[in-house]
Amino acid sequence: MGEFELIRRFFDRGPARRSPLGIGDDCALVAAREHGQIATTCDLLVEGRHFFADVSPADLGHKALAVNLSDLAAMGAEPFGFLLSISLPRVDEAWLEAFTEGLFAIADRYGCELLGGDTTAGPLAISITAFGHVPAGAALRRDGAQPDDDLWVSGEIGGPSWAVGERYAGRGHALPASLVRRLDRPEPRVELGMALRHLASAAIDLSDGLLGDLGHIIERSRVGAEVDESALPVSPEIVAESRDRAIEFALAGGDEYELLFCAPPENRSAIEALGRRLGIPLTRIGRIRDGASIQVHDARGRPRARLPRSHEHFG
Ligand code: ADP
Ligand code: MG
Repeated sequence: MGEFELIRRFFDRGPARRSPLGIGDDCALVAAREHGQIATTCDLLVEGRHFFADVSPADLGHKALAVNLSDLAAMGAEPFGFLLSISLPRVDEAWLEAFTEGLFAIADRYGCELLGGDTTAGPLAISITAFGHVPAGAALRRDGAQPDDDLWVSGEIGGPSWAVGERYAGRGHALPASLVRRLDRPEPRVELGMALRHLASAAIDLSDGLLGDLGHIIERSRVGAEVDESALPVSPEIVAESRDRAIEFALAGGDEYELLFCAPPENRSAIEALGRRLGIPLTRIGRIRDGASIQVHDARGRPRARLPRSHEHFG
């Protein structure tokens, strides 16, 4: 099977709703929205670095798009389309079937259509560029946090990074199904991000660990922050093992794809109501302060002496 037959068979699903020309021309054409901005983001996943060679191709298809949708969610953008660049060592039809099944299942769920891409032979690597709409000026940026804002996080944290460690240690088979699902099929917080447009002052998605990602917000917003470790919604699966380790994973572990956001205290009840409406736990874990550093303290207000480090490539 050649390149064009492969594209036709696995990636071309006919004219897209947002792009009636469909794929196959030199560029995709998408209608612009009046008074709108387009949020765009891309992520590169490389075998051996971001996933294991024996990963389920359906999970990989899901995750490759999910991580991009999570970035759109963190900007409050509404996903509409994506480009897929893929490098494949060989044409493995069963692999491609499963990969596209996982990919298109999540794409369809979020109304995000494949607009085009690039296909080549080479080591297994996948890069997706995703696009979303956001009304002009409404995007949730990293630089909007203000002193006295509350600091919030969605969902439960710490579990996925702990689960990765368990896999490396050869104990992956003993992981609870809930965690395996969160790790392999993360659900981007797209609806939450869109609903926060008028409630949050700043947001970021948790991909490299809470302290590292909060570090980006305080740097861009030129503020400091205070985190109450006893308020962290740590994954119950790790708390059962050790509460202290659970807190370390919650502070530094990556792969969460939850939203960390700041909001003025007067929005508290609206945010709590939003969490109930969406069925997503939203937890207040601290506040923004004047300054330029992050302080983590325990329930009695004692500062944590040593802060665990977040993930960085080339770090
Ligand atoms: P060009 O030569 O203009 O770069 P290609 O020959 O690489 O175009 O691709 C032909 C068409 O197929 C283009 O419209 C491109 O967007 C689309 N395409 C190629 N690979 C993919 C893919 N993996 N997913 C979706 N569309 C793809
Ligand atoms: Mg090409």
